[in-house]
Amino acid sequence: MRVNKIIPYGRQSIDELDILEINKVLNSDWLTQGPVVTHFEQALSEYCSAAYAVACTNATAALHVACLALGLTVNDIVWTSPNTFLSSANCARFCGAQIDFVDIDEKTYNLCPDKLEAKLLTAEKLDKLPKIIIPVHFAGQSCDMKKIHQLAKKFNFHIIEDASHAIGATYLDKRIGCCQYSDITIFSFHPVKIITTGEGGAALTNSKEIAEKIRLYITHGMTRDSKKMENPSNDLWYYEQIELGFNYRITDIHCALGLSQLKKIDTFIRKRHELVARYNEGLKDLPLTLPYQHPDTYSSFHLYVICLMAEYKNKTRAQLFNELRQANIGVNVHYIPVHTQPYYKKFGFQWGDFPVSEDYYHRTITLPLYPGLSYEQQDTIISIIKNILT
Ligand SMILES: *Cc1c(COP(=O)(O)O)cnc(C)c1O
Repeated sequence: MRVNKIIPYGRQSIDELDILEINKVLNSDWLTQGPVVTHFEQALSEYCSAAYAVACTNATAALHVACLALGLTVNDIVWTSPNTFLSSANCARFCGAQIDFVDIDEKTYNLCPDKLEAKLLTAEKLDKLPKIIIPVHFAGQSCDMKKIHQLAKKFNFHIIEDASHAIGATYLDKRIGCCQYSDITIFSFHPVKIITTGEGGAALTNSKEIAEKIRLYITHGMTRDSKKMENPSNDLWYYEQIELGFNYRITDIHCALGLSQLKKIDTFIRKRHELVARYNEGLKDLPLTLPYQHPDTYSSFHLYVICLMAEYKNKTRAQLFNELRQANIGVNVHYIPVHTQPYYKKFGFQWGDFPVSEDYYHRTITLPLYPGLSYEQQDTIISIIKNILT
């Protein structure tokens, strides 16, 4: 069995309304930094019940400026999950800080709070406590934020939630992004994520000071606010650069798409859940571990990951993966543990350091999941997997 056209693991859902909204911007006076960026930011902060939202070029940039806004420097340490995209660790390196990892929970594949606590106790004795922890809501399911937040108070670190997968998800009945248990939450609007702006990201926070710093860092470190200037002036042309910042600005074109997509987010996520339920049913009798859902969470289901059971020896993960790719099913793997990347090995990390992430990585495959996936396509995917594994 083989499908004619490749079915990707994720893709955007764009409709006529999205196109109409983008066209409106193209016909307006501003292509960038006009009113639509602000509208999108307001809509994000309202949707998530956070006081402030700052949109920017992508989540990687948002993670970078979030670290800067929390004062991260070369003398500091950041910890994150090995089971994530490179950016969650790279953002620390952009600031020259050291990076370390905390292994994942065997069921949720999220940063494990018990391992975090143990590692913090050791780090405290060595005087090597992290300044920032970046929990990643893997596949759209929230980490155990209450526990991580308790530890943050005890060990005095900041929290940036990498919620690139998790806009629209909830934790203890509150939306991810409300920042109840963190300083800053980051979203990504890359086309494979829950909603898209093409490229785009955002940082949400309840702190005015942090929001202002983030805004400063995404626009060259320059200010027109006389209260922030070294030499205040009322001259209308006057601005000052008070920090070293970047051009991480997003455009009105991107934000028009984002605003339009945000209106549909709950429908998108309901559709993802419907497809997840169908996968769960169709794959239940196979030698696979299907996504575990913690009762405190409602996932946005960015990814549907299956894990070959350790006892199953008839086929390897690579065989299953390759046979699916040969059938034109665009499966993927999330994630190669970040600490095993050549760049990070240079800092002394090696295979064996975070065994749960590594064992998970060796057995996992991400199946196609996005709102536009049809039942027919999904049934074909399920049949192909059944054929391969039985
Ligand atoms: C996609 C992703 C990023 C990076 O997002 P961009 O918007 O592409 O920069 C960061 N972290 C995680 C966990 C992601 O999945």
